[in-house]
Amino acid sequence: MGVLLQMPTTSSPRPYDGFEKQFINGAWRPGRVPRLLKDTNPYTGEILLEIPSADQTDVDEAYRSAAQAQPVWSKMLPLRRAAVMQGMAAAMQARRAEIVSWLVRESGSTCLKAEMEWESTHAVALESASIPHRMEGRVLPGDVPGKECRVYRKPVGVVGVISPWNWPLHLSARSVLPALACGNSVVLKPASDTPVTGGTLLAKLLEEAGLPPGVLNVVLGAGGDLGDAFVTHPIPRVISFTGSTAVGKRIAKLSAESPILKRLELELGGNTPFVVLADAPLDHAVEAAVFGKFLHQGQICMAINRIIVDDSIYDQFLDRFVERVRSLKVGDPDRPDTMIGPLINSSQLERLQKRIRGARDAGLQQVVGGEPRGLVLPPHVFRDVSNDHDLAREELFGPVAPVIRAHGEEDALALANATQYGLSSAVFTSDLDRGALFATRIEAGMAHVNDQPVLDLPNNPFGGEKNSGIGRFGGTWAIEAFTTDQWVTVQHTPHRYPFSAREVTAPWAGG
Ligand code: NAD
Repeated sequence: MGVLLQMPTTSSPRPYDGFEKQFINGAWRPGRVPRLLKDTNPYTGEILLEIPSADQTDVDEAYRSAAQAQPVWSKMLPLRRAAVMQGMAAAMQARRAEIVSWLVRESGSTCLKAEMEWESTHAVALESASIPHRMEGRVLPGDVPGKECRVYRKPVGVVGVISPWNWPLHLSARSVLPALACGNSVVLKPASDTPVTGGTLLAKLLEEAGLPPGVLNVVLGAGGDLGDAFVTHPIPRVISFTGSTAVGKRIAKLSAESPILKRLELELGGNTPFVVLADAPLDHAVEAAVFGKFLHQGQICMAINRIIVDDSIYDQFLDRFVERVRSLKVGDPDRPDTMIGPLINSSQLERLQKRIRGARDAGLQQVVGGEPRGLVLPPHVFRDVSNDHDLAREELFGPVAPVIRAHGEEDALALANATQYGLSSAVFTSDLDRGALFATRIEAGMAHVNDQPVLDLPNNPFGGEKNSGIGRFGGTWAIEAFTTDQWVTVQHTPHRYPFSAREVTAPWAGG
């Protein structure tokens, strides 16, 4: 019997176009609002696209088409749903340069960050291909004679996904792909700064991979305009939101007031402590601190917000840290060795400049700094910052590093935990058991010993405590997030119901 070999092709596919349209029920069409959403390159200022926005009627159509498509999609063989995820991974592979270029131009990603985002999104697609065959039900031991207790694992139905601009492709894919793989349909609303990389690019890749029409819908528009209608719509069963704590809390309130309650997956802001204990391997700690603070200009939810260093090595650490920060390449994100590129927009720059001015006015000592060029803010380092100063209290989301002094391990732990957030964290020590024990005492969903905290792996539980969110992503946790358990009982033999207190011999059984 002959074997058919598929020969690899070397020609690149034609780049996608038509990104200025909404994607509803498998059709690409303009939004109903004539006012244009401007999609801008944050480094050059070039307008990449002008997009007529969606309105509430578009949102309604998107949810209705998702509801119509979902039953057929969920009944497809797991093999078929897995094949779409594999097709998505293959389309990403064929279009790697095109995807990376969009991330650089639209989201101000440095090449380094864009390549990392491609890798992590590709890994999510591969992980999602395994999900359709991992949706297992169970048969439970029963305490009622003749009764079989089954647990069916079912998709929730329709999922609404709202994503942010900072890792747009990955953070949209992290919800959309497992939700689809579980047999749900999805309506996605990306951030208005990244409509392509957070939205329509994902739709193009999935369309190419063979996703049936209506199973994924993408609506483009400002969160402030579409958000309420998107969250309170009666069709979605789960709202998967990644973004700021303020908007996440608003969504929780809206959900409670909706005609039908929604399950919420909330991945919110952070205030990551990076703790350097007295016995830390210093060179390693410095490299990790620089990477975990300045990757993507610090615009990452797990990015280090506070560097907490033991007093006994504080000056040594700070000298090396400052020297390394001064060596970072700053500027054009399209150059392979640039570490710090542009911030996403002028309001983010103004917000950070205000906080930097506030720190100087409060007498904090700035040891690295500089003026912005366009939206590129050079790295800033402040020393001897108090843990309750504004720089340490609230998420910075920019290339600004407050370095805090701790007096011993217990003080470092108390400082690390003195925050309303609890997303990620890190601790450095030469004693790995001491590190692991310290890590378990940090009130955060994620804690890393001797590594930087900017990590999101497709099969690990990702998520926060306190004001950093509710729920977990990744692998098995993503299946939990986008499915529901239904308890079905089957009574095989007629049941004798107790009609007298004297007949009760087991919780629900008579006789
Ligand atoms: P944001 O909350 O302003 O926006 C996030 C999304 O919500 C966008 O799509 C936006 O259009 C939409 N939105 C805005 N107002 C809305 C409303 N009233 N109703 C519904 N949707 C609305 O956040 P951002 O500025 O895009 O992202 C930065 C924040 O996101 C940071 O706080 C960061 O820590 C957080 N974040 C968290 C994670 C995580 O996994 N925990 C990952 C990335 C970013």
